Parts: sequence; structure tokens; C-alpha cells
Amino acid sequence: MNTVENFDFTGKKALIRVDFNVPLNKDLVVTDNTRIVAALPTINYILDNGGSCVLMSHLGRPKGEKKAEFSLQHIGGELSNLLNKPVQFIDDCIGDKVKVKVANLAAGEVLLLENTRFYSEEKKGDENFAKSLADLGADIYVNDAFGTAHRAHASTATIAQFFGNKCFGFLMAKEIANANKVLKEAEHPFTAILGGAKVSDKIEIIDNLMEQADNIIIGGGMAYTFFKAMGGNIGKSLCEDDKLDLAKELLQKAKENNTQLLLPIDSIIADDFANNANTQLADSDKIADAWMGLDIGKKAIENFKATIQNSKTILWNGPMGVFEMDSFKTGTVEIAKAIAQSTANGAFSLVGGGDSVAAVKQFNLADSVSYVSTGGGAMLEFFEGKTLPGIKAITG
Ligand code: AMP
Repeated sequence: MNTVENFDFTGKKALIRVDFNVPLNKDLVVTDNTRIVAALPTINYILDNGGSCVLMSHLGRPKGEKKAEFSLQHIGGELSNLLNKPVQFIDDCIGDKVKVKVANLAAGEVLLLENTRFYSEEKKGDENFAKSLADLGADIYVNDAFGTAHRAHASTATIAQFFGNKCFGFLMAKEIANANKVLKEAEHPFTAILGGAKVSDKIEIIDNLMEQADNIIIGGGMAYTFFKAMGGNIGKSLCEDDKLDLAKELLQKAKENNTQLLLPIDSIIADDFANNANTQLADSDKIADAWMGLDIGKKAIENFKATIQNSKTILWNGPMGVFEMDSFKTGTVEIAKAIAQSTANGAFSLVGGGDSVAAVKQFNLADSVSYVSTGGGAMLEFFEGKTLPGIKAITG
């Protein structure tokens, strides 16, 4: 892979697209620095090898306007602490005054540019704006922003055409290598576990994985659309009525492809969408009218566990139930534990996508799986089989 390790940074200036889109509290203090920490290996590598770093990122959704609450200036202090060195900041990301700053940057120094999304051209992937970024005076373009790799924006994709020297940072390289272990080099049996609220969000993944996975486990709210499509009673459970035909098609396609599609045989049902609701165990296709399925049941857990324990490659995206409520988190906890156990026995496991990442972190199991992706939407699009613009920009 084309990474920073292929370049000599001595006396060179690297323009690095990082993902510093981190949460801030009302005092504009960083509350979760995970994404900043994830960019450190690339920045430190370049500095340690005689280069200097010009960092660009977006933060929040300023919608093309300069808004103080979205200034990258709020990130500078945290970055400086983590790097253990001063970080210079400039209140723009293009133009002459930025060029002067870049020209004066000495080896070992770090310059943080202002929010790229203060220009509406950023999200449009505008060529002139991308050229202005490319003209700042950097020698090498480095893309290390996996979280935005699925966006064809000026700083993530369009800009690359203006650089002869370009490569991935370590985070990008790690994300791509791990995703490929699942998509291109999976050891079989390969099991994909998909959950969460909506089938519509996961259709393309299910479709793309159908030919590659041996087993597709479907849990969470999206399972009930499948039960209804098969003629079951699902009460007030989550259902996308406009996706019933599609669910039938996916069930048929699984049969044709010899892919085992596993649905939760039973469910924890509740009479209200609340942690203190009355609950019962029921077959997932026989849910009484006033009730709704909010977690997978005991038989489903055992069934899913048996498949997970036999797997050599595991991909997990989306919770098995409403794990945010204690009464409905058991299914998600048990599946996370089964993935951890299978990983301990030698399987490769990748957890990707917002809520399943939150779940493994919440259950302290993030270190017990092989890889936790930092890119929610980007990882999902990768598994949908799409070519990500941020990756294509470097690989050509
Ligand atoms: P997603 O963003 O599509 O991955 O969905 C994650 C959300 O789905 C979480 O907030 C869960 O609480 C929710 N969810 C999971 N299972 C169910 C269910 N059976 N009924 C309603 N919501 C669910």
C-alpha cells in the first residue's frame, strides 16, 4: 500500500487531511479525543523523519460560513498536549497569508489550518478550491481521514489530482487493510452480523455480502421486517412496510446463494418502548398486537452464538436490540461476548459502524475483538462494495 513509509520527508512539508471532527462541550472543550489520537502516528512519523505538517480538517456543519463555534482553533490545545509540542494555528485554510505561514514552517513544526467547511466549495468537491489548498506550498499530500473517505470533497478527494507525491497515512492504511481482511481475504466460515433499527440502511451491505459470507445473522429492529415478510405477526415491532418485498427478495437470494440467513427465533417483547415496560419472551413471528420486540431472546442468542463460535471471520455492524436500555441489552452483550470468545480462539473480527462500536466500548470488549473501525459511514460504504472517493484519489 502507498503509505507515508514510501516517502523521505527530510525538509519536506506534508499537507495532511486529518479527521478532527471531534465532539466539543458548551465551553468548546474536546470531550472525546479518539480521532485526534488516531492521527498521531502519521503526524509523529513525518515530524520524526525531518518533515513538517500542515493539518487540515472539517469540524461540525458550519454550512460554508465562518462560525466561531466550529473553529479548528478549539482543537489546537488538545493536539498540542498530545503531540507534546506547540501547534501553530491560522484562521484560514487558503490564500496568501496561509501560504506565507506554510513557507515559514520549519522541519518539526506543525501548522493547523482553519475549518475547510468554512468554504461551501469544500463539500462540493470544487476544483478551484482544491487547487487553492494544493497551492499552499506543501510537497506531499497525505490522506489520513478515513471517517470522511466516503465523501468526494475538495480536501479529501479532488485535491489529490494536483499532487504528484501523495499517499495514505497510517490510520487510512490500517482501516483499509482490516476491511480487506474481511472483504477480500476472509477465511471461512465468514459470518456477518447485522443489526440496528432499519433494513433500508443495511440492504446494500446484505446484498453485497450475500456472495461472500457463509452466514448472515440479522438482529435488532430490522429483523421484524423479515418476519412480517414471511407472514408472521410482529405486533408493534419496528417494521418498514415499504421494504417487505425487498426482504422477501433477500431471503430468496440467500437460498439461491446457499448463504445461511439467520433470524432471531425468539424475542424479548415489551408493552412499551421503555426500560421499565412489562416484558415477556415470545417467538419472533408470534408477537401479540400491543407488544413489540426490543431484544433477541434466549434461543436466538444460543443459535447465533453457535454460528459465531464456528466462524473464522466475523464482521459486526449494528446492535441486536435497544442496548441503550438495560432491560434490552442482553442480546447485544451476549453477541459481543461470543465475538470476543471466537476472537480468542483465533477468528478475525471487525466491528464497524457507530452503535456496535459504542456497544463494544460500553461492555469493555473493544480490546477483545481484532479491530474496531473509526469510520462509521465510510466503513459501511466500503462493505456495500463501493469505491470510496478518498481511497480512489490516492490509488487512482
Ligand atoms: P442503526 O443506527 O440502524 O445501527 O440502529 C441502532 C439503533 O437501533 C439503536 O439505537 C438501537 O436502540 C435501535 N434498535 C435495535 N434494536 C431495536 C428494536 N428491536 N426496536 C427498536 N429499535 C431498535
